[in-house]
Amino acid sequence: AAKADGRQQPARYAPALSHAMDERARLTDRLQHALRYGGLALHYQPQVDVRNGAVVGVEALLRWTDPELGAIPPARFIPVAEATGLILPLGDWVLHEACRQLRAWVDQGLHLRVAVNLSPQQFRQPGLAAQVRDVLQGHGVAPALLELEITESQAMTDPTQARRTLTALADEGVTIALDDFGTGHSSLAVLKQLPVQRLKIDRTFLQHIPEDTTDGVLVRGVLALARTLRRDVVAEGVENPAQLDFLRRCRCPAYQGWLFAPALPPEALAARLSGEAAGGAAAGAMGCHSA
Ligand code: C2E
Ligand code: MG
Ligand code: MG
Ligand code: MG
Repeated sequence: AAKADGRQQPARYAPALSHAMDERARLTDRLQHALRYGGLALHYQPQVDVRNGAVVGVEALLRWTDPELGAIPPARFIPVAEATGLILPLGDWVLHEACRQLRAWVDQGLHLRVAVNLSPQQFRQPGLAAQVRDVLQGHGVAPALLELEITESQAMTDPTQARRTLTALADEGVTIALDDFGTGHSSLAVLKQLPVQRLKIDRTFLQHIPEDTTDGVLVRGVLALARTLRRDVVAEGVENPAQLDFLRRCRCPAYQGWLFAPALPPEALAARLSGEAAGGAAAGAMGCHSA
């Protein structure tokens, strides 16, 4: 953004700025390379029934390992992809890969709901619902097995557009979850009208539980709201037994977090699920709870 008249550009900011631009250009270049030649993968984090430990679904999380740069976390490359428009081909790749995996699991007798994150640009893309339908049909996957996650802020930025798009998606038979719930200033009037099945309580609210009693009250508040609106809930970022115990006591239906498992490669997830089924703890992956 250098102006022709460079006098007002303080020289001391230039190196940091150009470094940031180099970094962005390099990530963009390498990401394009990954889209073309490989290096992307989806890992899957279980969503677990609080009462009986059964796996009720998984969230697909994008992983990228570059031969030169190593493993790069989504927090670093998703914003770059958003800014450059690369998020659209990247989002396509994620949707296809999730549906390919879904189909492979179904063929193995594993009927797991898979949740896929949608970026703001994807969500604003005209024809999104038709695209989702085509990808599902292309892989022969039942729409009910696919969930789409948008953040609460995405839903609230332009409620009219959000409602239209979410309704079109829901008409295709996929379910919708509101991600990072509690961080995005929801209008309850809007929330009431959105065809959203699930609220995902942001992990910042779980982080200091049980010590932080205010956060505890907030979590209970979201649960009460969800019960009133008949929405399901997943609590994110459950790392220790005390947090799970808290969720059990306030009758939160489901959770996701390192306590149970991080996002796992598909083979590791399948192994973990069949291990638990064999151990008798959960034919739960199939939705038939023993307890
Ligand atoms: P998110 O959708 O809210 O995903 C949850 C994040 O929390 C994931 O980080 C997950 O690994 C992490 N997490 C899970 N359990 C725990 C826990 O117990 N403790 C802590 N501290 N963290 C936990 P990840 O995989 O690094 O992804 C970060 C964000 O990047 C995601 O947040 C999502 O916004 C975005 N993202 C990831 N994959 C995709 C994708 O395929 N498409 C798009 N558009 N965004 C994605
Ligand atoms: Mg998510
Ligand atoms: Mg989240
Ligand atoms: Mg998040």
